[in-house]
Amino acid sequence: MRRAGRLAVLVCVGLAAGASSAVAHVAGPPKASLKPDLSARTMLQEGTGQLFPTDEAAVARAAANPGPCTSAARDSMPDGAPHDHQQISQHAGFKCAVTQSEFLPLKDELKREFGREDVVLGEMDVKADIAAVAVTFPKGGVLFFDVKQPDKPKLLSVYKSGDCDAQPIDIDCGAFVDLSADGKVAYLAVQNLSSIPDPSLAAGRPGTPGVEIISLADPARPQLVQIYTPAVGFTGTHTARSHVIPPAPAAGPNGARAPGEYLFSIQNSAGVNIAKVERPGGIPQVRPVGLIGSRSVHDTFIQEDPLTGRTLLYLADGFGNDTAFVVFDVTDPASPKRLAQWDLTPECERDWYSHTIDVTTVNGRRYVTLPAELFVLDAQSDEDVAAGCGRKQADGSAPPQGNGNLPGPMWIVDATDFSKLPQQGESEANIKRKSQEALVATWENAAGRAGGNLTFSPHNQQIVGNNIYLSDYHGGVYKLDATKAFDGVRESAEQERPRELAFVVPSGEPTRPIAGLATPPIMPFFSSFPLGHPEIWDMFNYRGCTLAADMTGGFYSYEFDGDRCTAASGGPAPSQPVQSLGPLPEPRPQRPPDRLLISGKPRKVTRSGVVRTRLYCASPKPCAGLLKLRTTGKPKRGVPGNLRLGTRAFSLAPRTGRVLSVRLSRAHQRGVAKQRQTAVRAFVRVRFGGGKARRVRNIFSLTASKGLQRRLG
Ligand SMILES: [Zn+2]
Repeated sequence: MRRAGRLAVLVCVGLAAGASSAVAHVAGPPKASLKPDLSARTMLQEGTGQLFPTDEAAVARAAANPGPCTSAARDSMPDGAPHDHQQISQHAGFKCAVTQSEFLPLKDELKREFGREDVVLGEMDVKADIAAVAVTFPKGGVLFFDVKQPDKPKLLSVYKSGDCDAQPIDIDCGAFVDLSADGKVAYLAVQNLSSIPDPSLAAGRPGTPGVEIISLADPARPQLVQIYTPAVGFTGTHTARSHVIPPAPAAGPNGARAPGEYLFSIQNSAGVNIAKVERPGGIPQVRPVGLIGSRSVHDTFIQEDPLTGRTLLYLADGFGNDTAFVVFDVTDPASPKRLAQWDLTPECERDWYSHTIDVTTVNGRRYVTLPAELFVLDAQSDEDVAAGCGRKQADGSAPPQGNGNLPGPMWIVDATDFSKLPQQGESEANIKRKSQEALVATWENAAGRAGGNLTFSPHNQQIVGNNIYLSDYHGGVYKLDATKAFDGVRESAEQERPRELAFVVPSGEPTRPIAGLATPPIMPFFSSFPLGHPEIWDMFNYRGCTLAADMTGGFYSYEFDGDRCTAASGGPAPSQPVQSLGPLPEPRPQRPPDRLLISGKPRKVTRSGVVRTRLYCASPKPCAGLLKLRTTGKPKRGVPGNLRLGTRAFSLAPRTGRVLSVRLSRAHQRGVAKQRQTAVRAFVRVRFGGGKARRVRNIFSLTASKGLQRRLG
């Protein structure tokens, strides 16, 4: 996802956070380590504002240098009774300096195409007068709109992909959609763990993790031409972006260059797969040329850099290690060159989750914008708490991973001189200092409202001139004025903060029911965060209109004050000649790879010193192997690092789960009892059927049960 979710941490958060952590993400907020009840139900009824205090300092920073809609924005985030986030009519007044041009409820169309109204819409792209909106759950897909007249978008066609996982996890499988520059090809990123759908789904084809290459030679009849499944990654593809690398400029800097059309796709837990796109006979075909390894990358931005004439790839690096973002030169995609990185809190492992990245160059200076996505996972580790990461909760308990108890930031960073940004391998102190020096401004919502579990979280942004358009889940869509931040003159954090020029919380009626499943999933994802009406994952400013898709509602076209919606010249554009593709090759959907899931929930060590680990065989074949538990590499008080805790053999029937018990030695029991948390790695060697052994890993934390603490007192 340019953007993503919790699993996707997370969903849009992506599975991108790495196979092991993805499973951890999907495991849901561990209530034991966080005092407030963070169930979706409670958060909808009580609101994140009741659970996490307003950040008064953020309110004051916004008020110190307001835009025309800052005070209206401050008043547009009610949270807690009597406000109900699922009643869309209660959000009708939350807007400023905006006109709604069009609202398409999509109820009937979605019911007709998917057999249910509660499908979840996702992220979007617009090119060549076509808007593509991903369908994320419970099947993947794409809605294509004609936006030649962007104030009157028209649904052109619906593309249906495979079924999402729903039994192991209710994950967004139509994770992201991108259009080629000429609008002739759509790339749908598909993530799936196991391809075990909800029983209520009509039997369709299972979603294949990878990228579906869809021909739009006739946009009214989208056609699947290839399922690209690079043999990397564990849970499929979180985002896929196409980009054309041009021939060398006549003058100017040069260097290795391989012009052509490429696809940069994030293979969850593996990194950015780079592939060449060729179009023999007009039919797109994709083949791999390279990989930038990363277990944490969540989203990308690719640009012809105006300052250097090179093609630059920016990674929003999720929970990356010392890397909130990383920049590569990919002008020669087979040999990417790392240029710089940035991270305000390199001392923290799991605090801010870098979600999306967008870059602009103004008056010779290059600026990176980077929102963090906010959610509430397991508590941050003792080391992170000791290092001052996040903010402790009111009752003194540790901050959550994902910093969901804080208002979400979008950072603006001066990246004009990459040599002044941190480089790989520098000390944490240097990375922190250089990152702070490059930080120009930070935007947070004007209400100082905590993000909660993806309730009021920044998601995707788009820079247009000096303005930034930002989608904010239940917070709607903002148009922010970043002129001060982009002018190259630093005054103060307050002066540089982007100001609210306009915003809207979409509130079109009728709306649709919120996704529900016949059988609750083993590791809830969508059903573990509080979906309301509306939920805005993405927006796109196009020809002066701002188009926005509501995950749980319809499709909107807005005109913000200061913008002017204009139709393609000549009104409705002449219909493009439909190319005859001839007979298309029949794509061969591949069976998703066999998987073994290791639940990442924090585990309690029982009174008798036993740890229980849950395994799930997501395969039509039996799974058999060996589970080993080790402490992580870092030694901690009472528990040495990288030490074997125990080993268990297992054998599972296809598509079944099992709990394995490992008894800790007395010394380890004491070590765990002394600490709040001990990080543990699970290593599994597993065979599916009679196949060859494969390795699966996960990391989770152990905490001592009250019984164990009493016993070892
Ligand atoms: Zn609300």
